[in-house]
Amino acid sequence: MPKIYFLDVTNRDGGQTAKLGLSKLEKTLINVYLNELGVFQSEFGFPTTRHESLYLKANLELVAMGLLKPIHLSGWIRAVVSDVETTFKMVPEIRHLNLSISTSQQMIYGKFQGKKNHDDIISEMTEAVDAARKHGCETVGVNAEDASRTELKYLIKFGLAAKEHGADRLRYCDTLGYDNPFSIYDTCKKLAEATEMPIEVHCHGDLGMAVANSLGGAKGALDGGQDVYINTTINGIGERAGNADLVAVILAVLKSKDFAKKYEIGDKIDLKKANKIAKFGSYAFDVPIPINQPGVGANAFAHASGIHADGVLKDPHNYELYGFEELGRGEPELVETGREICSGQYGGFSGFSYLMGKMKEPICFATKEEANDVLELVRYANVEAHKPLVEDELRFIAKYPRIAKKLLTLTPLE
Ligand SMILES: [Zn+2]
Repeated sequence: MPKIYFLDVTNRDGGQTAKLGLSKLEKTLINVYLNELGVFQSEFGFPTTRHESLYLKANLELVAMGLLKPIHLSGWIRAVVSDVETTFKMVPEIRHLNLSISTSQQMIYGKFQGKKNHDDIISEMTEAVDAARKHGCETVGVNAEDASRTELKYLIKFGLAAKEHGADRLRYCDTLGYDNPFSIYDTCKKLAEATEMPIEVHCHGDLGMAVANSLGGAKGALDGGQDVYINTTINGIGERAGNADLVAVILAVLKSKDFAKKYEIGDKIDLKKANKIAKFGSYAFDVPIPINQPGVGANAFAHASGIHADGVLKDPHNYELYGFEELGRGEPELVETGREICSGQYGGFSGFSYLMGKMKEPICFATKEEANDVLELVRYANVEAHKPLVEDELRFIAKYPRIAKKLLTLTPLE
């Protein structure tokens, strides 16, 4: 029976969002948290972008060290041979790639403006797939950008050509959030049946339907007999109105009416990590979680009106679809209301020792020299973060100073 997998694109689609950004350390922590949550794959960045290289290499080292396991880390590039070649020159260790090219009439005429026709697109894409295979890429996904505005017949031809050249999956990108749950169901079902390829559904929220469309597209692919890889981002952060929110999609799959009775998730999801990952996403992007965000918003389990409060006190199931404990909520949180010692780019030894010592599991250093080295890395991390580091970041730097050094090294070319 075909299964559902989650493929999170926070570190790619989220990271390229206008006015927002992530430090390389934050991107790394996101990969760590996604792995803990049980997400199958993290699209962790752009292997042809120079300032990503050391971050990508450092994270692939964490894979080799067993810290990022079993999650798959994949890069996003354009479906052109030159991008594949650059990728394997800059990050030769990479094993999973998604190759993207626009397929719609709108993009062919509006973006390529006569420079490429439908056949050119397919040949560029298949040449890129061939090149990726030649370099020993283990998973090649092919992304049809603007698939929802692409003629189905052409999309099938595109998918079949990709498959013939050894692509493993076809990403159906509703790049502009144009689909609705009914249209995406139909298209993904037909696409799965005709290509017999696992389908990725990539949805955006321009019409407020990213989560619903993800579920519709997933059902289509599954009913068409294929595995589905739902693309998500933490807190739905992404281009324009954003992507499908990771936690909301997982909740929709697990908790919406009868869905989980018929369809199964391929990996073990530890929903208890949901609250933590949403909080970290909010901290890293510096974007508050909306009060009414499903599962993780401040009001997601709040009741004030007489009838609801009375009902939920008698039996939570009266007015709650799922328990807050399931999402890892309910632990009291300590918020400092008095004196605060924070990490910063001009921090010194005394404040640093205090911070490392007051953690739940305090960090001790063998020598003062070792502690000083970590303090220096913490300063650099603050230069990039522009805000005090959280405990997990401090802990990561102390535990993996060599990796942290790579993440914090940004050297522009001459
Ligand atoms: Zn996107």
